Amino acid sequence: MELKVSTPWQLAMDKVKSWARINSPWLVHFNSGSCNGCDIEILATLAPRFDLERFGIKLQGSPRHADILICTGPVTRLARERLLRVYEQMPDPKFVVAVGSCGTSGGIFQGCYNIVGMIDEVLPVNVFIPGCPPRPEAIIYGVVESLKTK
Ligand code: SF4
Repeated sequence: MELKVSTPWQLAMDKVKSWARINSPWLVHFNSGSCNGCDIEILATLAPRFDLERFGIKLQGSPRHADILICTGPVTRLARERLLRVYEQMPDPKFVVAVGSCGTSGGIFQGCYNIVGMIDEVLPVNVFIPGCPPRPEAIIYGVVESLKTK
């Protein structure tokens, strides 16, 4: 087995990168089969009333630039592959937040013919935010808590 040795410069750069990412995480949002209720709460969280950007947290269109995947709904058969593709494109360290009862347990969609299951059955989830749908305060709390998991 080959041992990887980091120089003091690389270690310092890694520390700076981690500090910057944890203090200004960017989100990518994916609806894997939600009824849209949770997505509307995510939009409310990003709007000026709750103003998530004051914490340095902002929505990012591309998974290649995102730190946190915020996912809603159960995972449908159609969305499974796309969800995995989005997750694989994100750089490490990456975090997954499951928003809503459907994402955390399957919710009202449990047992449907077109549902693979909850998000945890497809991706490693760092934080679950229950609720149907959860309030913006809960979503903000969950996003902040997810950063403490690595
Ligand atoms: S938790 Fe409620 S609001 Fe969210 S996707 Fe499920 S049914 Fe819709």
